[in-house]
Amino acid sequence: MISASDVSVGYDGQMIVHGAGLHVESGEVLGLIGPNGSGKSTLLKTLYAALRPRTGLITLDGERIGDLRGSALARRMAVVAQETPGDLPVSVAETVLLGRSPHRGALASFTVDDHRTAASALSLLGVRHLADRSYATLSGGEKQRVLMARAIAQQADHLLLDEPTNHLDIRYQHELLDLVGRLGLTTVVVLHDLNLAARYCTKLVLLSEGQIVAAGTPADVLKPDLLNDVYGIHAEPVYAHGCLQLIFSIPSNQHAMAAGKPDH
Ligand code: ADP
Ligand code: MG
Repeated sequence: MISASDVSVGYDGQMIVHGAGLHVESGEVLGLIGPNGSGKSTLLKTLYAALRPRTGLITLDGERIGDLRGSALARRMAVVAQETPGDLPVSVAETVLLGRSPHRGALASFTVDDHRTAASALSLLGVRHLADRSYATLSGGEKQRVLMARAIAQQADHLLLDEPTNHLDIRYQHELLDLVGRLGLTTVVVLHDLNLAARYCTKLVLLSEGQIVAAGTPADVLKPDLLNDVYGIHAEPVYAHGCLQLIFSIPSNQHAMAAGKPDH
């Protein structure tokens, strides 16, 4: 369970997220959505204690997140951040094995069980055949799946993901989010694609200019008027096979990129 109340956070004196509150029940998949620059990554980083909030409180199963340090936090929470490390000078197998580090003493070596856990996480993400490759030589999508395997190998019961599908092709986007749902972990996932969010998240939180402007089920949050206000796009909800999806269109006189705004 993750709870945040009245969280404000920013960089160098500039506040980015203002008074955000959210609650993720055990086993729930909460999607964090919002336009570019709305503060999704900033809020997520605060939830995984990489940023310290200026005000407010974040708890993990009732414990203040700021009181959990290093391995103690990593045993409870796995993270796949937006900026994927590009140049780890290690193999894929070693990269995933690093997910086991929080469970080891500082000088202890990895056990047979650690190797098994890492191998099965690689299999779950369909990247076991890459085990001996150098991580640095992988494609963006392969790296993303390997980092997801590392997070799963960590065996934490909370999972925080920042755009985990942005390098993946359509099939792996769906496979990965379907897997996230089946893991049964308490999950917060930043997603750009509102149709993926509608399909795979139990709950959504919509950020706009650093403020939470809607929270609830996908049907509660993905309302045409609200999406028009926040994204400036027309969205028509359709239901197929019991699932909400959106058909988007841009009013023809409102193309932001074609508006020819001066860049200063
Ligand atoms: P999102 O993930 O929703 O696209 P971010 O949380 O990354 O948005 O960014 C929100 C705002 O904070 C943006 O205006 C961005 O430029 C700014 N920002 C992000 N990271 C930093 C940083 N390290 N230092 C200063 N400003 C930052
Ligand atoms: Mg981001």
